Amino acid sequence: PDTKLPKVGTTIFTVMSQLAAEHGAVNLGQGFPDFPVPPRLVDALTRAMQAGHNQYAPMTGIPALRQAIAAKTERCYGWRPDADTEITVTSGATEAIFNAIHAVVRAGEEVIVLDPCYDCYEPAIELAGATAVHVPLDPATFAPDWDAVRAAITPKTRMLMVNSPHNPSGAMFTAADMQALIDLLQGTDIVLLSDEVYEHIVFDGARHESALLYPQLRERSFVISSFGKTYHCTGWKLGYAIAPPALSAEFRKVHQYNVFCSFTPSQHAFAEMITQEPEHYEQLGAFYQDKRDRFRAQLAATRLKPLPVPGGYFQLVDYSAVSDLPDLEFARWLTVEHGVTGIPLSPFYASAPAGQRLLRLCFAKNEDTVNRAIERLSKL
Ligand code: PMP
Ligand code: GLN
Repeated sequence: PDTKLPKVGTTIFTVMSQLAAEHGAVNLGQGFPDFPVPPRLVDALTRAMQAGHNQYAPMTGIPALRQAIAAKTERCYGWRPDADTEITVTSGATEAIFNAIHAVVRAGEEVIVLDPCYDCYEPAIELAGATAVHVPLDPATFAPDWDAVRAAITPKTRMLMVNSPHNPSGAMFTAADMQALIDLLQGTDIVLLSDEVYEHIVFDGARHESALLYPQLRERSFVISSFGKTYHCTGWKLGYAIAPPALSAEFRKVHQYNVFCSFTPSQHAFAEMITQEPEHYEQLGAFYQDKRDRFRAQLAATRLKPLPVPGGYFQLVDYSAVSDLPDLEFARWLTVEHGVTGIPLSPFYASAPAGQRLLRLCFAKNEDTVNRAIERLSKL
């Protein structure tokens, strides 16, 4: 049939979560924490609702939250965006990504994405009538090949989408990558969409290379983040986009007629939380590094081989010592036969490398959840 999104089915995250539930499997698939959100945040949300903040927020987000994001951005990246003209609060990063694409990309244009990439990118590009041009990351290290990106640029290229720390691999851009990106985009009118939802989940003393650190990048970028990742509340669906005034103005036209505004009580809660407890995001890397290290140490008791995890809350494992099944089949088999659910990588690609035997496991979990998973995985 002549449908607009013929390639789209149910997301791999939904499919695997449903399968996990059906089979009572330990779910390390879909990325979400299974521990509580910070008590102060729940308290602030409750108070906001009790105080009557239950009607439409301003279209761009409440001023207190935009100010808090501006101050936090300055604290983290040494540059303060203008809260009135450069910050827009959205219903999660997903909405922000959709808006950014629809704000600037026209039918017939091209958007370069680096495979593997998060699953919401390409459908949003296709709904704009544009084409996703897929450039592979290095299959072993998930580092970008900037020469290959340069070779993919055509007169139709309108946007380049990047994601660091990276889902699904956890790979992070280096300062050299950022310089390469600056050189690549210089003299073009390509807009950068930098998906930085895991900006605070970085390990081993590394610096998150935000596009906001570089004037030559931030002047042409949408930088997108999500409170879901930073505050353990993926179900609250609140995020934001930072972009120069002209790009933000176009972004807001889409946001205005897409949702108009995002969930009001949570905006009050995050404004308070960000301002009063900066330790939360400052210590998030250490919090998750501890989980990463324990998970990796426990994986040594299994035949799954862990790949390096510089950032994010996903551990890729090579399962080739256990099975030669393709990843979709392996993920299903592991859930049904061994009671542990992960996410196969092939749905993140236009065309996955032949013979790749990798599974993504989420370690944003309680110790008890991880222990139960490891007990089962050690029997493989
Ligand atoms: N980008 C990436 C790389 C993600 O991993 C996610 C969430 N899994 C999103 C965007 C979407 O974030 P949100 O839930 O805030 O819409
Ligand atoms: N971002 C989450 C992940 O990568 C999934 C979110 C979703 O289910 N759409 O696991």
